[in-house]
Amino acid sequence: MIQPIQLDPSYQSSPDLLKGRSILITGAGDGIGKELAITAARHGAEVVLLGRTQAKLEAVYDEIEKITGNKSIICPVELETMDEAQADQLADSLAAELGGKLDGLVHNAGILGQRAPVQNHSVAVWQSVMQINLNACFILSKALLPLLTASPDGRILFTTSGVGRIGIAFWGAYGVSKFAVEGLSQTLADELTQTTSIRVNAVNPGITRTAMRAAAAPAENPASIKPPSDLMYGYLYLLGPDSKDVSGQSIDL
Ligand code: NDP
Repeated sequence: MIQPIQLDPSYQSSPDLLKGRSILITGAGDGIGKELAITAARHGAEVVLLGRTQAKLEAVYDEIEKITGNKSIICPVELETMDEAQADQLADSLAAELGGKLDGLVHNAGILGQRAPVQNHSVAVWQSVMQINLNACFILSKALLPLLTASPDGRILFTTSGVGRIGIAFWGAYGVSKFAVEGLSQTLADELTQTTSIRVNAVNPGITRTAMRAAAAPAENPASIKPPSDLMYGYLYLLGPDSKDVSGQSIDL
Protein backbone atom coordinates (compact mmCIF):
# COMPACT_ATOMS: atom_id res chain seq x y z
CA MET A 1 0.00 0.00 0.00
CA ILE A 2 1.50 3.34 -1.03
CA GLN A 3 0.68 6.28 1.21
CA PRO A 4 2.74 9.20 -0.03
CA ILE A 5 4.11 11.68 2.46
CA GLN A 6 5.13 15.30 1.93
CA LEU A 7 8.17 17.16 3.16
CA ASP A 8 8.33 20.65 4.58
CA PRO A 9 9.10 22.88 1.57
CA SER A 10 10.60 25.49 3.91
CA TYR A 11 13.42 23.03 4.81
CA GLN A 12 16.66 25.00 5.02
CA SER A 13 19.86 23.07 4.45
CA SER A 14 23.24 24.20 5.66
CA PRO A 15 25.57 25.32 2.83
CA ASP A 16 27.89 22.37 3.46
CA LEU A 17 25.14 19.80 4.07
CA LEU A 18 26.67 17.23 1.72
CA LYS A 19 30.35 17.87 2.46
CA GLY A 20 32.31 14.62 2.46
CA ARG A 21 29.53 12.77 0.64
CA SER A 22 29.83 11.25 -2.81
CA ILE A 23 26.59 11.06 -4.76
CA LEU A 24 25.90 9.34 -8.06
CA ILE A 25 23.03 10.79 -10.10
CA THR A 26 21.70 9.02 -13.18
CA GLY A 27 20.38 11.23 -15.95
CA ALA A 28 22.62 14.02 -14.68
CA GLY A 29 22.94 15.73 -18.06
CA ASP A 30 19.52 17.30 -18.26
CA GLY A 31 16.31 18.23 -16.46
CA ILE A 32 15.95 17.40 -12.77
CA GLY A 33 19.16 15.35 -12.67
CA LYS A 34 21.24 18.25 -13.98
CA GLU A 35 19.78 20.67 -11.45
CA LEU A 36 20.36 18.13 -8.69
CA ALA A 37 23.97 17.50 -9.69
CA ILE A 38 24.77 21.21 -9.57
CA THR A 39 22.84 21.70 -6.33
CA ALA A 40 24.50 18.73 -4.62
CA ALA A 41 27.93 19.97 -5.70
CA ARG A 42 27.13 23.46 -4.40
CA HIS A 43 26.35 21.84 -1.05
CA GLY A 44 29.72 20.15 -0.90
CA ALA A 45 29.09 16.74 -2.48
CA GLU A 46 31.49 15.04 -4.84
CA VAL A 47 29.13 14.15 -7.67
CA VAL A 48 29.22 11.30 -10.13
CA LEU A 49 27.47 12.30 -13.32
CA LEU A 50 25.96 9.32 -15.11
CA GLY A 51 24.11 9.70 -18.40
CA ARG A 52 24.09 8.69 -22.01
CA THR A 53 25.09 11.94 -23.75
CA GLN A 54 28.71 12.75 -23.04
CA ALA A 55 28.46 16.38 -24.24
CA LYS A 56 25.66 17.09 -21.76
CA LEU A 57 27.62 15.53 -18.89
CA GLU A 58 30.68 17.57 -19.84
CA ALA A 59 28.62 20.77 -19.80
CA VAL A 60 27.41 19.94 -16.26
CA TYR A 61 30.97 19.06 -15.24
CA ASP A 62 32.16 22.47 -16.50
CA GLU A 63 29.36 24.31 -14.72
CA ILE A 64 30.13 22.56 -11.43
CA GLU A 65 33.84 23.30 -11.78
CA LYS A 66 33.08 26.95 -12.52
CA ILE A 67 30.79 27.30 -9.49
CA THR A 68 32.65 25.21 -6.91
CA GLY A 69 36.17 24.78 -8.27
CA ASN A 70 35.70 21.03 -7.77
CA LYS A 71 35.90 18.24 -10.27
CA SER A 72 33.13 15.68 -10.75
CA ILE A 73 33.31 12.19 -12.17
CA ILE A 74 31.71 11.60 -15.57
CA CYS A 75 30.26 8.16 -16.38
CA PRO A 76 28.85 7.88 -19.90
CA VAL A 77 26.50 4.89 -19.65
CA GLU A 78 23.63 3.80 -21.87
CA LEU A 79 21.24 2.39 -19.27
CA GLU A 80 19.15 0.60 -21.87
CA THR A 81 21.97 -1.80 -22.67
CA MET A 82 23.90 -1.76 -19.39
CA ASP A 83 24.37 -5.32 -18.14
CA GLU A 84 25.59 -6.73 -14.85
CA ALA A 85 29.23 -6.94 -15.98
CA GLN A 86 29.26 -3.28 -17.02
CA ALA A 87 27.64 -2.21 -13.76
CA ASP A 88 30.18 -4.23 -11.77
CA GLN A 89 32.99 -2.62 -13.74
CA LEU A 90 31.57 0.81 -12.99
CA ALA A 91 31.39 -0.09 -9.29
CA ASP A 92 35.03 -1.21 -9.31
CA SER A 93 36.26 1.99 -10.91
CA LEU A 94 34.15 4.13 -8.57
CA ALA A 95 35.45 2.19 -5.58
CA ALA A 96 38.97 3.17 -6.62
CA GLU A 97 38.08 6.81 -7.31
CA LEU A 98 35.88 7.38 -4.25
CA GLY A 99 37.93 5.62 -1.61
CA GLY A 100 35.74 2.54 -1.33
CA LYS A 101 32.40 4.14 -0.47
CA LEU A 102 29.44 5.85 -2.08
CA ASP A 103 27.09 7.94 0.07
CA GLY A 104 24.19 8.49 -2.29
CA LEU A 105 22.64 6.91 -5.37
CA VAL A 106 19.85 8.78 -7.15
CA HIS A 107 18.00 6.77 -9.78
CA ASN A 108 16.73 9.77 -11.72
CA ALA A 109 17.17 8.84 -15.40
CA GLY A 110 14.00 7.85 -17.16
CA ILE A 111 12.19 7.93 -20.46
CA LEU A 112 8.57 8.61 -21.18
CA GLY A 113 8.21 6.08 -23.96
CA GLN A 114 4.90 6.23 -25.72
CA ARG A 115 1.62 7.81 -24.64
CA ALA A 116 -0.77 5.21 -26.06
CA PRO A 117 -3.45 2.72 -25.06
CA VAL A 118 -2.09 -0.68 -24.08
CA GLN A 119 -3.75 -2.17 -27.16
CA ASN A 120 -1.59 -0.03 -29.44
CA HIS A 121 1.56 0.12 -27.34
CA SER A 122 4.75 -0.83 -29.16
CA VAL A 123 6.33 -3.91 -27.59
CA ALA A 124 9.80 -2.59 -28.36
CA VAL A 125 9.10 0.75 -26.65
CA TRP A 126 7.56 -1.07 -23.67
CA GLN A 127 10.73 -3.10 -23.23
CA SER A 128 12.98 -0.03 -23.55
CA VAL A 129 11.00 1.81 -20.90
CA MET A 130 11.17 -1.15 -18.52
CA GLN A 131 14.88 -1.54 -19.15
CA ILE A 132 15.74 2.11 -18.47
CA ASN A 133 13.17 3.07 -15.83
CA LEU A 134 13.19 -0.16 -13.83
CA ASN A 135 15.74 -2.85 -14.70
CA ALA A 136 18.69 -0.44 -14.79
CA CYS A 137 17.77 0.71 -11.25
CA PHE A 138 17.94 -2.89 -10.04
CA ILE A 139 21.21 -3.67 -11.83
CA LEU A 140 22.90 -0.46 -10.67
CA SER A 141 21.64 -0.79 -7.09
CA LYS A 142 22.90 -4.37 -6.93
CA ALA A 143 26.35 -3.41 -8.21
CA LEU A 144 26.70 -0.37 -5.97
CA LEU A 145 25.29 -1.79 -2.73
CA PRO A 146 28.71 -2.82 -1.40
CA LEU A 147 29.92 0.78 -1.82
CA LEU A 148 26.75 2.19 -0.27
CA THR A 149 27.00 -0.22 2.64
CA ALA A 150 30.52 1.08 3.27
CA SER A 151 29.12 4.58 3.78
CA PRO A 152 28.30 5.55 7.36
CA ASP A 153 25.06 7.17 6.16
CA GLY A 154 24.06 5.93 2.69
CA ARG A 155 21.03 7.02 0.70
CA ILE A 156 19.21 5.50 -2.27
CA LEU A 157 16.54 7.57 -3.99
CA PHE A 158 14.26 6.18 -6.66
CA THR A 159 12.16 8.44 -8.89
CA THR A 160 8.48 7.70 -9.06
CA SER A 161 5.46 9.51 -10.46
CA GLY A 162 1.79 10.08 -9.75
CA VAL A 163 1.01 7.60 -12.55
CA GLY A 164 3.03 4.99 -10.64
CA ARG A 165 0.48 4.98 -7.84
CA ILE A 166 -2.78 4.88 -9.71
CA GLY A 167 -3.11 3.45 -13.21
CA ILE A 168 -4.05 6.13 -15.72
CA ALA A 169 -5.08 5.53 -19.32
CA PHE A 170 -2.44 6.01 -22.02
CA TRP A 171 0.55 6.27 -19.67
CA GLY A 172 1.48 2.73 -20.74
CA ALA A 173 4.87 1.33 -19.85
CA TYR A 174 5.93 4.56 -18.13
CA GLY A 175 3.24 4.29 -15.44
CA VAL A 176 3.75 0.56 -15.03
CA SER A 177 7.53 1.03 -14.68
CA LYS A 178 6.95 3.58 -11.91
CA PHE A 179 4.61 1.18 -10.03
CA ALA A 180 7.47 -1.32 -10.14
CA VAL A 181 9.98 1.29 -9.01
CA GLU A 182 7.79 1.91 -5.95
CA GLY A 183 7.92 -1.84 -5.30
CA LEU A 184 11.68 -2.03 -5.68
CA SER A 185 12.13 0.94 -3.37
CA GLN A 186 9.90 -0.59 -0.67
CA THR A 187 11.55 -4.00 -0.99
CA LEU A 188 15.07 -2.60 -0.73
CA ALA A 189 14.08 -0.34 2.17
CA ASP A 190 12.65 -3.31 4.04
CA GLU A 191 15.84 -5.29 3.44
CA LEU A 192 18.25 -2.51 4.44
CA THR A 193 16.69 -0.17 6.98
CA GLN A 194 17.05 -2.37 10.07
CA THR A 195 20.40 -3.88 9.20
CA THR A 196 22.36 -1.05 7.60
CA SER A 197 22.58 2.74 7.79
CA ILE A 198 21.28 3.04 4.22
CA ARG A 199 17.96 4.85 3.84
CA VAL A 200 15.86 4.12 0.77
CA ASN A 201 13.00 6.25 -0.51
CA ALA A 202 11.05 7.01 -3.69
CA VAL A 203 10.56 10.61 -4.75
CA ASN A 204 7.78 11.92 -6.96
CA PRO A 205 8.91 15.28 -8.38
CA GLY A 206 5.40 16.11 -9.57
CA ILE A 207 4.85 18.09 -12.75
CA THR A 208 8.16 19.82 -13.48
CA ARG A 209 9.45 21.97 -16.35
CA THR A 210 11.73 19.62 -18.30
CA ALA A 211 12.04 18.13 -21.77
CA MET A 212 10.20 15.02 -20.59
CA ARG A 213 7.23 17.02 -19.36
CA ALA A 214 7.14 19.03 -22.58
CA ALA A 215 6.96 15.75 -24.52
CA ALA A 216 4.20 14.41 -22.24
CA ALA A 217 2.08 17.58 -22.38
CA PRO A 218 3.01 19.56 -25.51
CA ALA A 219 0.06 21.94 -25.18
CA GLU A 220 1.05 23.04 -21.67
CA ASN A 221 2.71 26.41 -21.17
CA PRO A 222 6.10 25.55 -19.58
CA ALA A 223 6.08 28.88 -17.74
CA SER A 224 3.00 27.69 -15.81
CA ILE A 225 4.79 24.81 -14.10
CA LYS A 226 7.56 24.67 -11.51
CA PRO A 227 11.22 24.51 -12.53
CA PRO A 228 13.52 21.75 -11.21
CA SER A 229 15.09 24.22 -8.77
CA ASP A 230 11.84 24.21 -6.75
CA LEU A 231 12.39 20.52 -5.91
CA MET A 232 15.89 20.82 -4.53
CA TYR A 233 14.89 21.30 -0.88
CA GLY A 234 13.49 17.75 -0.91
CA TYR A 235 16.47 16.12 -2.57
CA LEU A 236 18.87 17.89 -0.22
CA TYR A 237 16.88 16.78 2.80
CA LEU A 238 16.68 13.18 1.59
CA LEU A 239 20.38 12.99 0.67
CA GLY A 240 21.70 14.63 3.80
CA PRO A 241 21.96 13.62 7.45
CA ASP A 242 18.61 15.17 8.48
CA SER A 243 16.66 12.32 6.83
CA LYS A 244 18.28 9.53 8.84
CA ASP A 245 14.90 8.46 10.21
CA VAL A 246 13.11 8.43 6.85
CA SER A 247 13.12 5.15 4.91
CA GLY A 248 10.68 3.09 2.89
CA GLN A 249 8.62 6.17 2.06
CA SER A 250 7.14 7.45 -1.16
CA ILE A 251 7.48 11.20 -1.09
CA ASP A 252 5.70 13.92 -3.04
CA LEU A 253 7.71 17.05 -3.68
P1 NDP B 1 14.49 14.62 -18.77
O1 NDP B 1 14.03 13.93 -19.99
O2 NDP B 1 14.60 16.10 -18.76
O3 NDP B 1 15.90 14.03 -18.30
C1 NDP B 1 16.09 12.64 -18.22
C2 NDP B 1 17.55 12.34 -18.13
O4 NDP B 1 17.71 10.90 -18.16
C3 NDP B 1 18.34 12.89 -19.31
O5 NDP B 1 19.55 13.42 -18.84
C4 NDP B 1 18.58 11.66 -20.17
O6 NDP B 1 19.75 11.72 -20.94
C5 NDP B 1 18.70 10.57 -19.11
N1 NDP B 1 18.43 9.26 -19.73
C6 NDP B 1 17.32 8.88 -20.36
N2 NDP B 1 17.47 7.65 -20.87
C7 NDP B 1 18.73 7.25 -20.54
C8 NDP B 1 19.49 6.09 -20.82
N3 NDP B 1 19.01 5.10 -21.55
N4 NDP B 1 20.75 6.00 -20.33
C9 NDP B 1 21.26 7.02 -19.60
N5 NDP B 1 20.61 8.16 -19.33
C10 NDP B 1 19.35 8.28 -19.80
O7 NDP B 1 13.51 14.13 -17.62
P2 NDP B 1 13.10 14.75 -16.20
O8 NDP B 1 14.25 15.51 -15.64
O9 NDP B 1 11.79 15.36 -16.35
O10 NDP B 1 12.87 13.40 -15.37
C11 NDP B 1 13.73 12.94 -14.35
C12 NDP B 1 12.98 11.87 -13.58
O11 NDP B 1 11.81 12.43 -12.97
C13 NDP B 1 12.47 10.71 -14.47
O12 NDP B 1 12.63 9.49 -13.79
C14 NDP B 1 10.99 11.03 -14.63
O13 NDP B 1 10.23 9.87 -14.86
C15 NDP B 1 10.68 11.66 -13.29
N6 NDP B 1 9.49 12.51 -13.27
C16 NDP B 1 9.46 13.69 -13.99
C17 NDP B 1 8.34 14.50 -13.96
C18 NDP B 1 8.26 15.78 -14.72
O14 NDP B 1 7.18 16.40 -14.76
N7 NDP B 1 9.33 16.26 -15.35
C19 NDP B 1 7.15 14.13 -13.16
C20 NDP B 1 7.29 12.89 -12.43
C21 NDP B 1 8.42 12.12 -12.50
P3 NDP B 1 19.78 12.51 -22.35
O15 NDP B 1 19.48 13.94 -21.99
O16 NDP B 1 21.15 12.31 -22.80
O17 NDP B 1 18.71 11.89 -23.19
